[in-house]
Amino acid sequence: MRREWADQGVILRIGHFRDNDLWLKLLFRTKGMVTAFAFGASRSRRRFCGCLDVFNTIQCRVVTSGRGDFLNLQEATLLSGPQALRKNWQRMGMAANCLRFLEAIGVSGENAGETFSLLEDVRQTMEGAGAVSALFPIFFRLRVACMQGYAPGLENCYICGAPPRSGELSFFQVDDGQRVCFACRDSSAVRSRYQVVLPYGALTYLNTISHTAPSAWPPAPEFGGDRRACVRAIDGFIQYHLGLVWENGYFRRA
Ligand SMILES: [Zn+2]
Repeated sequence: MRREWADQGVILRIGHFRDNDLWLKLLFRTKGMVTAFAFGASRSRRRFCGCLDVFNTIQCRVVTSGRGDFLNLQEATLLSGPQALRKNWQRMGMAANCLRFLEAIGVSGENAGETFSLLEDVRQTMEGAGAVSALFPIFFRLRVACMQGYAPGLENCYICGAPPRSGELSFFQVDDGQRVCFACRDSSAVRSRYQVVLPYGALTYLNTISHTAPSAWPPAPEFGGDRRACVRAIDGFIQYHLGLVWENGYFRRA
């Protein structure tokens, strides 16, 4: 049965097939991530107003095909899109990495609204004049993991309950996704030794960004030697709990 619906979507990826047709991967505000086809999109400016471009937010009218096996984008209008960002290849590359991650991990209808808002916030942050850390795409993965219910425990030590103290080293237990304090790092209650050492500054920063929108992230500290620790902690966590590894320009299943 033919069904029609309207929703707002952010375009994650676009591809061509045949002469005038496009397929799009979109994250819809209520429907989650879907693939839709835009027939005749390459020549129909009337129906699509030239708004089909990566990272644009568009208002769409979509029709489900007779057998329900594909979605047909009937009409779209531009709501917002990157401007300054399109001229900044470095930031556009970081934004693209964030979009690839979402594509790889998938977004259900349940998380759709929150993730949609996150993407709009990422675009606004990248459009702004403020500094954006080179680690932004990695921080983004941590934020997304938290939104999908995989928030790591970066506060009290999960063995003794001690809070982090300034100047003290913490140990991030990657498989448990929990912080262990310095005193408990060798405790027999620690199940494995898959640990990443996190200095206080790095720990505090990761804890902050895991709970807040990117536009509200404080400037990333000069991590120095901690930088690698942050990357290892997040990469290890994403690989262990979400099963994804970034390798040679792609996310692959671990
Ligand atoms: Zn402890």
